[in-house]
Amino acid sequence: MTHPQISLLRDVPTLRQQVAQWHAAGLKVAVVPTMGALHDGHLSLVRRGFEKADRVIATIFVNPKQFAAHEDLGRYPRDEAGDLAKLASAGTSVVFAPAPEAVYPKGFATSIHMEGPAKARLEDAFRPQFFDGVATVVTKLFTQTAADYAMFGEKDYQQLKVVSRMARDLDLPIEVVGVPTMREADGLAMSSRNIYLSPAERHVATAIYRALNEAAVMIHAGTNPAQAEALAEAALTAQGFKVDYVAARNAQTLAKPASVAEPLRLLAAAWLGKTRLIDNIAV
Ligand code: AMP
Repeated sequence: MTHPQISLLRDVPTLRQQVAQWHAAGLKVAVVPTMGALHDGHLSLVRRGFEKADRVIATIFVNPKQFAAHEDLGRYPRDEAGDLAKLASAGTSVVFAPAPEAVYPKGFATSIHMEGPAKARLEDAFRPQFFDGVATVVTKLFTQTAADYAMFGEKDYQQLKVVSRMARDLDLPIEVVGVPTMREADGLAMSSRNIYLSPAERHVATAIYRALNEAAVMIHAGTNPAQAEALAEAALTAQGFKVDYVAARNAQTLAKPASVAEPLRLLAAAWLGKTRLIDNIAV
């Protein structure tokens, strides 16, 4: 299917030319980096992009550098035609979907290494290469698109903090904007990986959001965060999850909180069968 109103670009010079034209006309540009297999959560980033900017570029790239050898790179869901149709209906005019060889040509030798929020002992404890892979590709996407705004989902809360920190640390001329998590009607955070879930697992999966909410209520009622984390973890384990972490952290730095007076974020990651789910909420 073709979408006359959307251009699918694969190379950086054409992308740069398009954005230069927009900037010359005084238009602001937002970028929405994705790995494709788009759902309404991604489209909410596009919609938010249009609140900040005149044009929204979506990028689709399943970044090999952020997958470890044992992870799901090979079976990660891909549906470029479906993605283009969804993006066109959301008003996106340009989609940048480069081939891996265009992003990492032979001889590619650079990596952005991050500390701080990238070493909070959350996702990084279980996926050691992940944030350097994200930071490297996101830096490239920021410089390739020369966008004014970049939209990132709170769904991947640690990633949002890592990318915000990196843009500031490297003086990248872009404003990173966080967008609230879109959920299914029963509370499950939308994710491209939800299609891996069997019907029975899909039913149980809502327990993550419930456990986070119950832990937040407990913390508000005076339970200390460590105890609330342990109770949430036990509840998830009892329902068949293998929990990687449930953690209450400072909402800005992701450090362990010294007091419940700090703004807190509760974050969780857990396996249901072969699928790893993550979620987080404000406390
Ligand atoms: P991904 O394609 O999974 O790499 O996600 C691309 C972007 O969409 C990231 O900024 C994610 O945080 C964001 N995103 C993914 N799922 C959701 C969701 N349910 N609600 C809001 N944003 C999301």
